[in-house]
Amino acid sequence: MALIVQKFGGTSVGTVERIEQVADKVKKFREAGNDLVIVLSAMSGETNRLIELAKQISDQPLPRELDVIVSTGEQVTIGLLAMALNKRGVPAVSYTGSQVRILTDSSHTKARILKIDDQKIRADLKAGRVVVVAGFQGVDEHGNITTLGRGGSDTTGVALAAALKADECQIYTDVDGVYTTDPRVVAKAQRLEKITFEEMLEMASLGSKVLQIRAVEFAGKYNVPLRVLHSFKEGPGTLITIDEEESMEQPIISGIAFNRDEAKLTIRGVPDTPGVAFKILGPISATNIEVDMIVQNVAHDNTTDFTFTVHRNDYSAAQSVLENTAREIGAREVVGDTNIAKVSIVGVGMRSHAGVASRMFESLAKENINILMISTSEIKVSVVIEEKYLELAVRSLHTAFDLDAPARQGE
Ligand code: ADP
Ligand code: ASP
Ligand code: MG
Repeated sequence: MALIVQKFGGTSVGTVERIEQVADKVKKFREAGNDLVIVLSAMSGETNRLIELAKQISDQPLPRELDVIVSTGEQVTIGLLAMALNKRGVPAVSYTGSQVRILTDSSHTKARILKIDDQKIRADLKAGRVVVVAGFQGVDEHGNITTLGRGGSDTTGVALAAALKADECQIYTDVDGVYTTDPRVVAKAQRLEKITFEEMLEMASLGSKVLQIRAVEFAGKYNVPLRVLHSFKEGPGTLITIDEEESMEQPIISGIAFNRDEAKLTIRGVPDTPGVAFKILGPISATNIEVDMIVQNVAHDNTTDFTFTVHRNDYSAAQSVLENTAREIGAREVVGDTNIAKVSIVGVGMRSHAGVASRMFESLAKENINILMISTSEIKVSVVIEEKYLELAVRSLHTAFDLDAPARQGE
Protein backbone atom coordinates (compact mmCIF):
# COMPACT_ATOMS: atom_id res chain seq x y z
CA MET A 1 0.00 0.00 0.00
CA ALA A 2 1.41 3.36 -1.07
CA LEU A 3 1.08 6.74 0.56
CA ILE A 4 0.48 9.32 -2.13
CA VAL A 5 0.11 13.09 -1.85
CA GLN A 6 -2.02 14.45 -4.70
CA LYS A 7 -2.28 18.18 -5.36
CA PHE A 8 -5.04 19.55 -7.60
CA GLY A 9 -4.65 23.06 -9.03
CA GLY A 10 -7.18 25.88 -9.51
CA THR A 11 -8.76 24.85 -12.82
CA SER A 12 -9.04 21.24 -11.62
CA VAL A 13 -11.26 22.41 -8.74
CA GLY A 14 -12.68 25.43 -10.62
CA THR A 15 -16.34 24.37 -10.41
CA VAL A 16 -18.48 22.07 -8.26
CA GLU A 17 -18.64 19.63 -11.21
CA ARG A 18 -14.85 19.50 -11.38
CA ILE A 19 -14.64 18.91 -7.63
CA GLU A 20 -17.05 16.00 -8.08
CA GLN A 21 -14.75 14.67 -10.84
CA VAL A 22 -11.73 15.00 -8.55
CA ALA A 23 -13.68 13.07 -5.89
CA ASP A 24 -14.33 10.26 -8.40
CA LYS A 25 -10.63 10.11 -9.18
CA VAL A 26 -9.58 10.12 -5.53
CA LYS A 27 -12.11 7.37 -4.83
CA LYS A 28 -10.49 5.16 -7.49
CA PHE A 29 -7.04 5.64 -5.97
CA ARG A 30 -8.46 4.89 -2.54
CA GLU A 31 -10.18 1.73 -3.73
CA ALA A 32 -6.87 0.60 -5.22
CA GLY A 33 -5.61 0.52 -1.64
CA ASN A 34 -3.60 3.74 -1.37
CA ASP A 35 -3.37 6.07 1.60
CA LEU A 36 -4.11 9.54 0.31
CA VAL A 37 -3.43 13.10 1.34
CA ILE A 38 -5.04 15.57 -1.05
CA VAL A 39 -3.88 19.19 -1.29
CA LEU A 40 -6.12 21.69 -3.04
CA SER A 41 -5.83 25.17 -4.54
CA ALA A 42 -8.65 27.67 -4.52
CA MET A 43 -11.06 27.66 -7.48
CA SER A 44 -9.30 29.27 -10.46
CA GLY A 45 -9.63 33.04 -10.39
CA GLU A 46 -10.64 33.06 -6.72
CA THR A 47 -7.29 34.17 -5.30
CA ASN A 48 -7.19 37.06 -7.80
CA ARG A 49 -10.76 37.99 -6.90
CA LEU A 50 -9.89 38.08 -3.20
CA ILE A 51 -6.80 40.21 -3.80
CA GLU A 52 -8.95 42.63 -5.82
CA LEU A 53 -11.43 42.88 -2.95
CA ALA A 54 -8.63 43.80 -0.59
CA LYS A 55 -7.35 46.38 -3.07
CA GLN A 56 -10.73 48.07 -3.09
CA ILE A 57 -10.10 48.94 0.55
CA SER A 58 -6.45 49.86 0.11
CA ASP A 59 -3.99 49.70 -2.81
CA GLN A 60 -1.41 48.45 -0.36
CA PRO A 61 -3.30 45.93 1.74
CA LEU A 62 -1.84 45.06 5.13
CA PRO A 63 0.02 41.78 4.47
CA ARG A 64 -1.35 40.11 7.60
CA GLU A 65 -4.93 40.90 6.65
CA LEU A 66 -4.35 40.01 3.01
CA ASP A 67 -3.33 36.52 4.17
CA VAL A 68 -6.50 36.24 6.25
CA ILE A 69 -8.49 37.09 3.12
CA VAL A 70 -6.73 35.08 0.41
CA SER A 71 -6.44 31.93 2.51
CA THR A 72 -10.25 31.57 2.43
CA GLY A 73 -10.22 30.37 -1.21
CA GLU A 74 -8.61 27.07 -0.27
CA GLN A 75 -10.86 26.64 2.76
CA VAL A 76 -13.88 26.45 0.46
CA THR A 77 -12.49 23.83 -1.93
CA ILE A 78 -11.23 21.48 0.80
CA GLY A 79 -14.63 21.49 2.52
CA LEU A 80 -16.39 20.80 -0.78
CA LEU A 81 -14.07 17.92 -1.70
CA ALA A 82 -14.33 16.34 1.75
CA MET A 83 -18.13 16.46 1.39
CA ALA A 84 -18.00 15.00 -2.13
CA LEU A 85 -15.82 12.13 -0.90
CA ASN A 86 -18.03 11.35 2.08
CA LYS A 87 -21.05 11.41 -0.26
CA ARG A 88 -19.31 8.67 -2.25
CA GLY A 89 -18.80 6.55 0.84
CA VAL A 90 -15.12 7.52 1.16
CA PRO A 91 -14.42 8.76 4.68
CA ALA A 92 -12.56 12.07 4.42
CA VAL A 93 -11.72 15.05 6.57
CA SER A 94 -10.50 18.54 5.63
CA TYR A 95 -7.93 20.68 7.43
CA THR A 96 -6.69 24.23 6.97
CA GLY A 97 -2.95 24.83 7.20
CA SER A 98 -3.30 26.02 10.75
CA GLN A 99 -5.37 22.98 11.78
CA VAL A 100 -2.68 20.60 10.50
CA ARG A 101 -0.14 22.94 11.90
CA ILE A 102 1.93 23.81 8.94
CA LEU A 103 4.25 26.12 10.84
CA THR A 104 5.79 28.94 8.80
CA ASP A 105 7.84 32.04 9.45
CA SER A 106 5.97 35.34 9.72
CA SER A 107 6.73 36.75 6.24
CA HIS A 108 3.14 37.36 5.25
CA THR A 109 2.29 36.67 1.56
CA LYS A 110 5.62 34.87 1.05
CA ALA A 111 6.06 32.72 4.14
CA ARG A 112 8.38 29.75 4.29
CA ILE A 113 7.42 26.43 5.83
CA LEU A 114 9.46 25.65 8.95
CA LYS A 115 7.84 22.50 10.25
CA ILE A 116 4.83 20.28 9.66
CA ASP A 117 3.08 18.43 12.45
CA ASP A 118 2.17 15.05 10.96
CA GLN A 119 0.36 13.55 13.96
CA LYS A 120 -3.20 14.45 13.06
CA ILE A 121 -2.79 13.38 9.44
CA ARG A 122 -1.17 10.09 10.42
CA ALA A 123 -3.97 9.31 12.88
CA ASP A 124 -6.60 9.99 10.21
CA LEU A 125 -4.80 7.87 7.64
CA LYS A 126 -4.58 5.06 10.17
CA ALA A 127 -8.31 5.35 10.77
CA GLY A 128 -8.85 4.91 7.02
CA ARG A 129 -9.68 8.51 6.17
CA VAL A 130 -8.57 10.52 3.16
CA VAL A 131 -7.06 13.77 4.44
CA VAL A 132 -7.79 16.93 2.43
CA VAL A 133 -5.45 19.84 3.20
CA ALA A 134 -5.71 23.48 2.13
CA GLY A 135 -2.74 24.43 -0.03
CA PHE A 136 -0.90 27.75 -0.01
CA GLN A 137 -1.34 28.47 3.71
CA GLY A 138 0.19 27.97 7.11
CA VAL A 139 0.34 29.54 10.52
CA ASP A 140 3.19 31.35 12.27
CA GLU A 141 4.34 30.81 15.85
CA HIS A 142 1.92 33.51 17.06
CA GLY A 143 -1.09 31.88 15.43
CA ASN A 144 -1.32 34.30 12.48
CA ILE A 145 -2.48 32.87 9.15
CA THR A 146 0.26 33.06 6.53
CA THR A 147 0.41 32.27 2.81
CA LEU A 148 3.27 30.87 0.75
CA GLY A 149 3.26 33.07 -2.36
CA ARG A 150 1.37 32.61 -5.63
CA GLY A 151 1.32 29.01 -6.79
CA GLY A 152 2.12 27.98 -3.21
CA SER A 153 -0.16 24.95 -3.12
CA ASP A 154 2.52 23.07 -5.04
CA THR A 155 4.87 23.71 -2.14
CA THR A 156 2.28 22.54 0.40
CA GLY A 157 1.96 19.30 -1.57
CA VAL A 158 5.67 18.63 -1.76
CA ALA A 159 6.32 19.67 1.84
CA LEU A 160 3.59 17.33 3.09
CA ALA A 161 5.00 14.52 0.95
CA ALA A 162 8.44 15.15 2.48
CA ALA A 163 7.09 15.30 6.05
CA LEU A 164 5.06 12.11 5.61
CA LYS A 165 7.80 10.38 3.59
CA ALA A 166 5.18 9.71 0.93
CA ASP A 167 5.95 7.33 -1.91
CA GLU A 168 5.11 9.99 -4.48
CA CYS A 169 3.84 13.54 -4.80
CA GLN A 170 1.56 13.98 -7.80
CA ILE A 171 0.81 17.48 -9.06
CA TYR A 172 -2.42 17.40 -11.08
CA THR A 173 -3.01 20.36 -13.36
CA ASP A 174 -4.47 21.48 -16.68
CA VAL A 175 -1.58 20.20 -18.83
CA ASP A 176 -0.40 16.59 -19.02
CA GLY A 177 3.15 17.23 -17.84
CA VAL A 178 6.11 19.56 -18.09
CA TYR A 179 6.71 20.63 -21.69
CA THR A 180 9.76 21.87 -23.56
CA THR A 181 8.11 25.29 -23.23
CA ASP A 182 4.66 26.62 -22.34
CA PRO A 183 2.36 24.64 -24.66
CA ARG A 184 -0.04 27.59 -24.68
CA VAL A 185 2.57 29.67 -26.47
CA VAL A 186 4.25 27.09 -28.69
CA ALA A 187 1.88 24.57 -30.23
CA LYS A 188 4.84 22.33 -31.15
CA ALA A 189 6.04 22.04 -27.54
CA GLN A 190 6.61 18.44 -26.43
CA ARG A 191 5.92 16.76 -23.13
CA LEU A 192 9.08 15.65 -21.36
CA GLU A 193 9.16 12.11 -19.95
CA LYS A 194 11.62 13.28 -17.31
CA ILE A 195 13.41 16.42 -16.24
CA THR A 196 16.09 16.79 -13.56
CA PHE A 197 15.37 18.76 -10.36
CA GLU A 198 18.14 21.12 -11.34
CA GLU A 199 16.65 21.89 -14.74
CA MET A 200 13.13 22.16 -13.34
CA LEU A 201 14.38 24.59 -10.73
CA GLU A 202 15.93 26.78 -13.44
CA MET A 203 12.78 26.55 -15.58
CA ALA A 204 10.60 27.55 -12.60
CA SER A 205 12.95 30.36 -11.54
CA LEU A 206 13.08 31.69 -15.09
CA GLY A 207 9.33 31.94 -15.46
CA SER A 208 7.72 28.52 -16.15
CA LYS A 209 4.89 28.67 -13.69
CA VAL A 210 3.90 25.02 -14.01
CA LEU A 211 5.54 24.38 -10.61
CA GLN A 212 6.31 26.87 -7.86
CA ILE A 213 10.06 27.32 -7.34
CA ARG A 214 9.92 26.46 -3.64
CA ALA A 215 8.14 23.19 -4.44
CA VAL A 216 10.97 22.10 -6.71
CA GLU A 217 13.56 23.17 -4.14
CA PHE A 218 11.83 21.11 -1.45
CA ALA A 219 11.46 18.09 -3.70
CA GLY A 220 15.17 18.21 -4.58
CA LYS A 221 16.28 18.75 -1.00
CA TYR A 222 14.17 15.97 0.50
CA ASN A 223 14.30 13.76 -2.56
CA VAL A 224 10.53 13.59 -2.98
CA PRO A 225 9.51 11.67 -6.10
CA LEU A 226 7.53 14.32 -7.97
CA ARG A 227 5.30 13.92 -11.02
CA VAL A 228 3.24 16.45 -12.98
CA LEU A 229 0.06 15.00 -14.51
CA HIS A 230 -3.22 16.06 -16.12
CA SER A 231 -6.14 16.04 -13.68
CA PHE A 232 -8.62 14.45 -16.01
CA LYS A 233 -6.66 12.73 -18.79
CA GLU A 234 -4.79 9.48 -18.28
CA GLY A 235 -1.05 9.50 -19.03
CA PRO A 236 2.41 9.12 -17.53
CA GLY A 237 2.98 12.87 -17.02
CA THR A 238 6.49 14.10 -16.32
CA LEU A 239 8.76 12.75 -13.62
CA ILE A 240 11.16 15.16 -11.93
CA THR A 241 14.28 13.11 -11.19
CA ILE A 242 17.74 13.31 -9.73
CA ASP A 243 19.65 11.38 -12.34
CA GLU A 244 21.16 13.00 -15.35
CA GLU A 245 21.11 10.39 -18.05
CA GLU A 246 24.39 9.73 -19.73
CA SER A 247 22.64 8.91 -22.96
CA MET A 248 24.07 10.19 -26.24
CA GLU A 249 20.64 11.25 -27.34
CA GLN A 250 20.17 13.56 -24.39
CA PRO A 251 19.22 16.93 -25.90
CA ILE A 252 21.50 19.85 -25.10
CA ILE A 253 18.53 22.01 -24.23
CA SER A 254 15.65 20.56 -22.23
CA GLY A 255 13.40 23.56 -22.25
CA ILE A 256 12.78 27.23 -22.89
CA ALA A 257 11.40 29.45 -20.16
CA PHE A 258 10.22 33.02 -20.45
CA ASN A 259 9.11 35.78 -18.16
CA ARG A 260 7.17 38.95 -18.84
CA ASP A 261 7.27 40.11 -15.24
CA GLU A 262 10.48 42.11 -15.40
CA ALA A 263 11.40 45.72 -16.12
CA LYS A 264 14.74 47.32 -16.92
CA LEU A 265 16.35 50.42 -15.42
CA THR A 266 19.51 52.19 -16.59
CA ILE A 267 21.47 54.89 -14.84
CA ARG A 268 23.65 56.74 -17.36
CA GLY A 269 26.81 58.77 -17.02
CA VAL A 270 27.80 57.49 -13.60
CA PRO A 271 31.23 58.79 -12.44
CA ASP A 272 33.27 55.58 -12.52
CA THR A 273 34.84 55.14 -9.10
CA PRO A 274 35.31 52.07 -6.93
CA GLY A 275 32.07 51.21 -5.14
CA VAL A 276 29.75 52.34 -7.94
CA ALA A 277 27.75 49.10 -8.01
CA PHE A 278 27.25 49.26 -4.28
CA LYS A 279 26.19 52.91 -4.38
CA ILE A 280 23.59 52.10 -7.01
CA LEU A 281 22.28 48.76 -5.78
CA GLY A 282 22.70 49.30 -2.02
CA PRO A 283 19.68 51.64 -1.75
CA ILE A 284 17.65 49.33 -4.02
CA SER A 285 18.23 46.31 -1.81
CA ALA A 286 17.66 48.42 1.31
CA THR A 287 14.15 49.00 -0.08
CA ASN A 288 13.73 45.22 -0.29
CA ILE A 289 13.63 45.19 -4.07
CA GLU A 290 15.17 42.15 -5.69
CA VAL A 291 17.48 42.70 -8.63
CA ASP A 292 17.81 40.05 -11.29
CA MET A 293 20.16 40.73 -14.21
CA ILE A 294 22.93 43.33 -13.99
CA VAL A 295 25.11 44.85 -16.70
CA GLN A 296 27.81 47.47 -16.22
CA ASN A 297 29.42 48.90 -19.32
CA VAL A 298 33.14 49.45 -19.67
CA ALA A 299 33.84 53.01 -18.67
CA HIS A 300 34.77 55.73 -21.14
CA ASP A 301 35.14 59.47 -20.33
CA ASN A 302 35.45 58.28 -16.71
CA THR A 303 31.73 57.53 -16.64
CA THR A 304 29.83 54.30 -16.98
CA ASP A 305 26.26 53.12 -17.69
CA PHE A 306 24.71 50.62 -15.32
CA THR A 307 21.60 48.56 -16.16
CA PHE A 308 19.60 46.08 -14.10
CA THR A 309 16.21 44.39 -14.07
CA VAL A 310 13.61 44.18 -11.30
CA HIS A 311 10.12 42.72 -11.01
CA ARG A 312 7.62 44.89 -12.89
CA ASN A 313 5.66 45.46 -9.69
CA ASP A 314 8.77 47.05 -8.17
CA TYR A 315 9.53 49.24 -11.19
CA SER A 316 8.17 52.59 -9.94
CA ALA A 317 9.66 52.15 -6.50
CA ALA A 318 13.05 51.22 -7.96
CA GLN A 319 12.89 54.16 -10.37
CA SER A 320 12.41 56.73 -7.61
CA VAL A 321 15.19 55.19 -5.49
CA LEU A 322 17.49 55.31 -8.53
CA GLU A 323 16.62 58.92 -9.32
CA ASN A 324 17.62 59.87 -5.81
CA THR A 325 20.88 57.98 -6.19
CA ALA A 326 21.52 59.67 -9.54
CA ARG A 327 21.24 63.11 -7.91
CA GLU A 328 23.51 62.08 -5.04
CA ILE A 329 26.30 60.60 -7.13
CA GLY A 330 26.04 63.07 -10.01
CA ALA A 331 24.91 60.64 -12.72
CA ARG A 332 23.51 62.07 -15.95
CA GLU A 333 20.07 60.40 -16.17
CA VAL A 334 17.84 57.45 -15.34
CA VAL A 335 15.90 55.69 -18.08
CA GLY A 336 13.65 52.66 -17.85
CA ASP A 337 11.66 50.20 -19.92
CA THR A 338 8.79 48.00 -18.81
CA ASN A 339 8.12 46.44 -22.21
CA ILE A 340 10.80 43.80 -21.99
CA ALA A 341 10.79 40.04 -21.60
CA LYS A 342 13.37 37.49 -20.60
CA VAL A 343 13.84 34.30 -22.61
CA SER A 344 16.04 31.51 -21.29
CA ILE A 345 17.25 28.21 -22.64
CA VAL A 346 17.87 25.56 -19.98
CA GLY A 347 19.65 22.23 -20.11
CA VAL A 348 22.23 20.19 -18.20
CA GLY A 349 23.57 19.14 -21.62
CA MET A 350 25.12 22.63 -21.91
CA ARG A 351 27.84 21.58 -19.50
CA SER A 352 29.38 19.32 -22.09
CA HIS A 353 28.62 21.27 -25.25
CA ALA A 354 30.26 24.44 -26.47
CA GLY A 355 28.59 26.97 -28.72
CA VAL A 356 25.12 26.80 -27.19
CA ALA A 357 24.93 30.55 -26.52
CA SER A 358 26.10 31.47 -30.00
CA ARG A 359 23.52 29.15 -31.53
CA MET A 360 20.92 31.01 -29.48
CA PHE A 361 22.18 34.41 -30.63
CA GLU A 362 22.31 33.26 -34.24
CA SER A 363 18.73 32.14 -34.15
CA LEU A 364 17.58 35.48 -32.69
CA ALA A 365 19.69 37.40 -35.20
CA LYS A 366 18.01 35.56 -38.07
CA GLU A 367 14.69 36.87 -36.82
CA ASN A 368 16.15 40.38 -36.44
CA ILE A 369 15.51 40.35 -32.69
CA ASN A 370 17.74 42.71 -30.79
CA ILE A 371 19.28 41.40 -27.55
CA LEU A 372 19.25 44.00 -24.78
CA MET A 373 20.95 42.01 -22.00
CA ILE A 374 22.56 38.61 -21.61
CA SER A 375 23.32 36.44 -18.61
CA THR A 376 24.60 32.89 -18.41
CA SER A 377 25.13 30.19 -15.83
CA GLU A 378 26.27 26.60 -16.04
CA ILE A 379 22.97 25.26 -17.34
CA LYS A 380 21.16 28.29 -18.76
CA VAL A 381 21.50 31.28 -21.07
CA SER A 382 19.05 34.17 -20.63
CA VAL A 383 18.49 37.17 -22.85
CA VAL A 384 16.33 40.22 -22.38
CA ILE A 385 14.50 41.36 -25.52
CA GLU A 386 11.61 43.66 -26.39
CA GLU A 387 8.39 42.07 -25.19
CA LYS A 388 6.72 42.29 -28.60
CA TYR A 389 9.22 39.73 -29.96
CA LEU A 390 8.76 37.25 -27.14
CA GLU A 391 6.63 34.66 -28.89
CA LEU A 392 8.65 34.84 -32.08
CA ALA A 393 11.86 34.38 -30.08
CA VAL A 394 10.56 31.38 -28.14
CA ARG A 395 9.24 29.70 -31.28
CA SER A 396 12.43 30.20 -33.26
CA LEU A 397 14.63 28.96 -30.41
CA HIS A 398 12.35 25.96 -30.01
CA THR A 399 12.98 25.08 -33.64
CA ALA A 400 16.69 25.96 -33.57
CA PHE A 401 17.33 23.58 -30.68
CA ASP A 402 15.37 20.73 -32.30
CA LEU A 403 12.64 20.72 -29.69
CA ASP A 404 9.63 20.85 -32.06
CA ALA A 405 7.26 17.90 -31.89
CA PRO A 406 7.21 15.83 -35.07
CA ALA A 407 4.33 16.98 -37.30
CA ARG A 408 1.24 14.85 -36.85
CA GLN A 409 -0.55 13.46 -39.90
CA GLY A 410 -2.57 16.08 -41.68
CA GLU A 411 -0.40 18.92 -40.44
P1 ADP B 1 -2.48 25.01 -11.46
O1 ADP B 1 -3.61 25.95 -11.28
O2 ADP B 1 -2.92 23.60 -11.69
O3 ADP B 1 -1.43 25.13 -10.37
P2 ADP B 1 -0.80 26.56 -13.22
O4 ADP B 1 -1.52 27.53 -14.09
O5 ADP B 1 -0.12 27.08 -12.01
O6 ADP B 1 -1.81 25.40 -12.85
O7 ADP B 1 0.30 25.75 -14.06
C1 ADP B 1 -0.07 25.10 -15.26
C2 ADP B 1 0.21 26.00 -16.45
O8 ADP B 1 1.61 26.23 -16.56
C3 ADP B 1 -0.17 25.43 -17.79
O9 ADP B 1 -1.52 25.70 -18.09
C4 ADP B 1 0.81 26.08 -18.76
O10 ADP B 1 0.20 27.12 -19.51
C5 ADP B 1 1.87 26.71 -17.87
N1 ADP B 1 3.24 26.36 -18.25
C6 ADP B 1 4.26 27.24 -18.36
N2 ADP B 1 5.37 26.63 -18.75
C7 ADP B 1 5.08 25.32 -18.88
C8 ADP B 1 5.84 24.17 -19.25
N3 ADP B 1 7.14 24.25 -19.56
N4 ADP B 1 5.21 22.98 -19.28
C9 ADP B 1 3.91 22.87 -18.97
N5 ADP B 1 3.14 23.93 -18.60
C10 ADP B 1 3.70 25.14 -18.57
N1 ASP C 1 -4.53 29.81 -4.86
C1 ASP C 1 -3.15 30.23 -4.83
C2 ASP C 1 -2.82 31.01 -6.08
O1 ASP C 1 -3.67 31.21 -6.93
C3 ASP C 1 -2.21 29.10 -4.61
C4 ASP C 1 -2.18 28.06 -5.70
O2 ASP C 1 -3.13 27.96 -6.48
O3 ASP C 1 -1.21 27.31 -5.75
O4 ASP C 1 -1.71 31.46 -6.22
MG1 MG D 1 0.13 26.50 -10.04
